[in-house]
Parts: sequence; C-alpha cells; structure tokens
Amino acid sequence: MSVIEQMQQELQTLKEHSNLRQLPQMVHDGREVVVNGQRMLNLSSNDYLGLAANKEIRAEFLQTLTPDSFLPTSSSSRLLTGNFSIYEELEAELATQFGTEAALVFNSGYHANTGIIPAVSHARTLILADKLVHASLIDGIRLSTARCIRYRHNDLNQLERLLKEHHSSYQQILIVTESIFSMDGDLADLPSLVHLKHAYDNVLLYVDEAHAFGIRGAHGLGCAEEAGCIRDIDFLVGTFGKAGTSAGAYIVCSRVIREYLVNRMRTLIFTTALPPVNVAWTLFVLRRIPEMKEPRKHLDKISRILREALQAQGYSCPSVSHIVPLMVGSSANAVVRAKELQRHGFYALPVRPPTVPEGTSRIRFSLTAEVSEEEIRALISCIV
Ligand SMILES: *Cc1c(COP(=O)(O)O)cnc(C)c1O
Repeated sequence: MSVIEQMQQELQTLKEHSNLRQLPQMVHDGREVVVNGQRMLNLSSNDYLGLAANKEIRAEFLQTLTPDSFLPTSSSSRLLTGNFSIYEELEAELATQFGTEAALVFNSGYHANTGIIPAVSHARTLILADKLVHASLIDGIRLSTARCIRYRHNDLNQLERLLKEHHSSYQQILIVTESIFSMDGDLADLPSLVHLKHAYDNVLLYVDEAHAFGIRGAHGLGCAEEAGCIRDIDFLVGTFGKAGTSAGAYIVCSRVIREYLVNRMRTLIFTTALPPVNVAWTLFVLRRIPEMKEPRKHLDKISRILREALQAQGYSCPSVSHIVPLMVGSSANAVVRAKELQRHGFYALPVRPPTVPEGTSRIRFSLTAEVSEEEIRALISCIV
C-alpha cells in the first residue's frame, strides 16, 4: 500500500468511528455564528470576557492608531531587529499587575509551552506532569531531554510519593500542571502544589493559566492570584488568545528565568516576533482586565447555574469553572447530541478522542460573559 493509500484508509477508519475532523466553515457575528445558513449562539468560544464580540472597545483602540503606529509586522525575531518598545511596555505592565520581577511575551501559548519546558530542563531533570495537561505542554515535554512521569489527574498523594522517591536522584524536578483544565473545567489545587514544592529545594512549579487568565482572581490575573501564590510559582504562563481577546502569551517570572529564556528558548529566538499592532492591542486590553469584575461575576453565576442543572440531571460534572462538559460517553452520541443542540440554536461542539480519553466523549460548553441567564436556562431545558 502506498503512503497516500494508507492515509486514505486511516481517514476512513476515523470516519467510521465518528472521529473524523473537519475545519468548520462559519461566519462570525459578535456572540453568534452562522453555520450552514443557521444562526446560533456561540457556546464554544474562548472569548470568556466577551470582549471579542465588543465593537466599542475595538473602535476605541482604532482611535489610537495612525499609519505610523499601525505596524502590521515586526519583520524579525526580537533578538535581531524585531524588539519594538511596545513589547517592553506590555512586559512592564504584566510584571506590575502580577507583582513579579519580570515578564516575557511569546507568539502563542503553544510557543510558550513548547519553548520554555525544553529550555529549562535537561537530562538530569525529572518532569512530573498531570495526566490531563494540554497537548502543547506534552509537546514541550517531548521536545525536552528530561525523563517524564505523568501522575493521575490531580492526584497529589501520588505526586508526593513520586517526589519522595525521585528527588535525590535528579538535579531538578519540574511539576507541570494547568490551573483550570481544558476539558473537564476542574482546578488544580495550587496551594497544595506550592506546599509540596517548598518541601524540596530542587523542585520547580510550572502552571498554565490559559483558561483562568482574565477570569479568576480579584483582578483577573488567574487562579494563582485567587490562591494568593503568584510568586510561589516559578513558571506562571498564560495565553492572550482566550479571555485576552488577542494573540500571544506570557510568562511572569524572576529576572533570572527571563534572561535565561531569552538566551535558550528556541520558540522565542527562531521566530518572527508578533506584529507590534497586535502587541499594542494586547496591552490595550490588559489595562482593562483588572476592572472587569462585573463580567467575571456574571460568568461565574451562569456557569454555576449550568453545572448545578447538569448535576441535578445525574450527569457527572467535574467542572468548577466556566468550562462545563456534558458527558455523553461515545463519540457517536456526542456528535448526535451536538447536532441536536445546534438545531435549537446553540453552537456547542463534541469533543472526542484523542483529545479526551476513549469513552468520555462530551459536549464541551465554554461559556462567555456575553451569554445571558435566560439563554442558559433555555439551554438547560433543551438538554433535559
Ligand atoms: C489554548 C491553550 C494553549 C495554547 O494557547 P494558544 O495561545 O492558543 O497557542 C496552551 N495551554 C492551554 C491549557 C490551552 O488551553
């Protein structure tokens, strides 16, 4: 069989198992999408604060631009000629908001996770990663020369045993977790992770706040702010692509770590830096995030209503956040249920293996502050 024939066969198998993926065609209209001529409320967006659907804030930002300041490309890596001053303004704002020594901005969360982990680990490093961490973290681990053990999801007893067993055989141990998990919407226990880390002098903690930045904490800085442990986390990472309404990602960290990454992180060094206009927009949004308490409160409220309704219906719902899975089991079932919701005007998508473990296919609701309480109640009647 030729390589191409093999690909065709594999695609056919995916199709037979309801696991074939396609790029969906859609037109965006604020908080709604139009797919195949049907207008639906977007319940699959990562625009958690609803800012991407907000035209006023875009208009306000456009007012700040002139042909001189509208810079659509950096034309280079930041280490060559791509380091525009707006980058350093954004990093200064991040360090101020988070109260850290330093911050560093990257092209995306994917670049961050696939770049930082290999840069800071080596053959005498042991990585202990939660079983459910995001693909970008797994790819970062794969690119590193460290040994990795995955511990059961949020099982800190197992993690503690692994630390005890291995801490003296490695120069350093890196614990890797998300704060809000992408698919289950549950949380890592950050205070306990910090406590475990402090029991050893060679253990570092890496936390990805992709789904929490903008949403959790009094000023929207994430779960680490909420738990009061920002400066106990060695590598605190987040993306601007979700609640941040932009593109790019950050780490807030010590000065030493920042300088080390500038020298060693391949996904920072060998790529064209983000367009300065994009970085200016990120900064524009970042300055507004601390004050966005009302949208955060509303999102918290509608998320709770949906979670409690699913639990009352007997669905197992691990979520304690705005990411709320409706567990349906088989992929075929997930596809059918998603279609049904779509017919009722709710654009929710099935999540299937390999993104989630076999047998745990689900509809993944990813709520935003633009969804009203009435709409959540209508969604609940539709599910029931
Ligand atoms: C979305 C996501 C990323 C990737 O961020 P991008 O900026 O979209 O590349 C990384 N980690 C987690 C946990 C995510 O959910």
